[in-house]
Amino acid sequence: MSYTYDNQNIFAKILRDEIPCNKVLETAHSLAFNDINPAAPKHVLVIPKGSYVTYDHFAQTATDDEITDFVRAIGEVCKILNVEPGQGGGGFRVISNAGEAGLQEVPHLHVHILGGRNLGPMVSKSQ
Ligand code: 5GP
Repeated sequence: MSYTYDNQNIFAKILRDEIPCNKVLETAHSLAFNDINPAAPKHVLVIPKGSYVTYDHFAQTATDDEITDFVRAIGEVCKILNVEPGQGGGGFRVISNAGEAGLQEVPHLHVHILGGRNLGPMVSKSQ
């Protein structure tokens, strides 16, 4: 199945500066900003500027430059948030929800970087 990108999604509007965000980092191909409804003391979203719906869509079709930029942006945000375990930070979790099973709300690829507290089990085993 191929992906159809909805350019009216909320992150597309943030990228077009139609609605504001609390920016953490901007690079050539990526943007990072604080989540509006944080689930942890540190909760940043990193998105590519390109029109990608999910992580698999991005991983399969983005250019090498976009992929490198996005992965490096995630590393840079970890540094900005001071959560890198190797640098004395408290650790973090990276999550990317996709589609129905992943309960993805916004159909523009984003990874959540969460930290600042013990984040508990990776996923609920019930249901
Ligand atoms: P998903 O469930 O798609 O993985 O996560 C979407 C995330 O986007 C949620 O954590 C939600 O709080 C965040 N979000 C939704 N609308 C906005 C917005 O307008 N601005 C910001 N900064 N975050 C948003």
